[in-house]
Amino acid sequence: SRSRCSVIIIGAGISGISAAKVLAENGVDDVMILEASDRIGGRIRKEGFGGVSVELGAGWIAGVGGKESNPVWELARQSGLRTCFSDYSNARYNIYDPSGKIFPSEEAADSYRKAVESAIRKLRAEEDNHGGDVARLSEPLSVPKTPIELAIDFILHDFEMAEVEPISTYVDFGEREFLVADERGYESLLHKMAETFLLTSDGEIMDSRLKLNKVVRELQQSRNGATVTTEDGCVYEANYVILSVSIGVLQSDLISFRPPLPRWKTEAIETCDVMVYTKIFLKFPYKFWPCGPDKEFFIYAHERRGYYTFWQHMENAYPGSNILVVTLTNGESKRVEAQSDQETLKEAMEVLRNMFGPEIPNATDILVPRWFNNRFQRGSYSNYPIYANHQMVHDIKAPVGRIFFTGEHTSERFNGYVHGGYLAGIDTSNALLEDMRREKERKLESQTFL
Ligand code: FAD
Repeated sequence: SRSRCSVIIIGAGISGISAAKVLAENGVDDVMILEASDRIGGRIRKEGFGGVSVELGAGWIAGVGGKESNPVWELARQSGLRTCFSDYSNARYNIYDPSGKIFPSEEAADSYRKAVESAIRKLRAEEDNHGGDVARLSEPLSVPKTPIELAIDFILHDFEMAEVEPISTYVDFGEREFLVADERGYESLLHKMAETFLLTSDGEIMDSRLKLNKVVRELQQSRNGATVTTEDGCVYEANYVILSVSIGVLQSDLISFRPPLPRWKTEAIETCDVMVYTKIFLKFPYKFWPCGPDKEFFIYAHERRGYYTFWQHMENAYPGSNILVVTLTNGESKRVEAQSDQETLKEAMEVLRNMFGPEIPNATDILVPRWFNNRFQRGSYSNYPIYANHQMVHDIKAPVGRIFFTGEHTSERFNGYVHGGYLAGIDTSNALLEDMRREKERKLESQTFL
């Protein structure tokens, strides 16, 4: 049976939920939220591991302590979310070589300074060259070669350290970052938001407007409305659609559009890079790593860039949990996603034995998230190329007929972040409400003429 509602929202991550909330606050409550997985939250997701709650997706509230307040930090404060300040500045003094020696602090600081300078020069060159071939520039740029140079290059580029380029998140909201360390999870912020407009019972969302396990496969639109078909053969009709799936999903063939999306749209979607970011959690019977607060982050310098480079102990977040986290990105993430967790465990243990000696205990448990192979994600977050212009983000965000786009990738200033998704949802719903108002006016006008 078919029922028609005002708006169908596809995806119940932070952007879909914030979009729905804005609609509800403006009196549009005949909405339907279709979510492919069996839960709300999307890339904000906790899981029980080693006796605590760990965040497989977003872990930090980034951008705190500045002039303007980060709206996600506000939500966290309102719900009393437990967080823990992360001080990355010491990571450069905890760089291990493969024989377990820590690089002397002067040498590490010097390498770091040089890497920042060279990264800034490279960035300028790329900007001047609009993404063209920087190798042909008159002044040759130094290429990181040694393990320590490679490790620092990885930290600077794959983790977006603010030293290299001004990042709007830090410019607007401040440079501090807080790790979410709360048993209820980062996702409790979403639940709290959802509870303001969806019916709940005993903390569970019971509202029939939220439909889980509904994988949208086809989106058809005409002048008058849109029809959405899901994998299980259900058909839903609406005046408008808000599509919040990730850029990776848009690049895949999961959803087909009828008529097909215009060329300007598909080209913009194709040009946006997708980052893969993988936090691997390891549980140990006891601690064998240095535990001071200035030792929270440490680095493994290896001849292969990004090979188990960036480590964090969870003693600040959860004292006594005996958990280590190592973060891989892109190529290394995909490689590890494709192999068994046992193989990954073996590799990680070898790296740890290089750093801390052969006598350390084996990990008793491992958790390897697979964001890239998840067909509802296809990556971790959007990453606009440095030469991306305003037009590209504009095109990714721009509605096509009755389909409105949202999600972190549509946020020009904060793409890649939770607050980017949150603000994008608000933005998209406001644009849609404006469209609805105009449509109503047009209808009224044509009626007066009759
Ligand atoms: P999503 O959360 O992806 O929501 C989209 C929803 O659409 C999903 O629930 C998905 O299941 C659903 N969907 C997909 N396809 C379909 C379909 N065909 N039909 C129906 N539903 C569908 N941000 C930070 O601010 N700080 C961090 O520390 C941080 N770290 C991160 C670490 C990792 C590993 C990852 C993956 C992300 C991280 N991020 C971080 C980014 C942040 O998580 C995202 O920017 C944000 O959560 C995206 O929200 P969204 O609503 O745009 O998308």
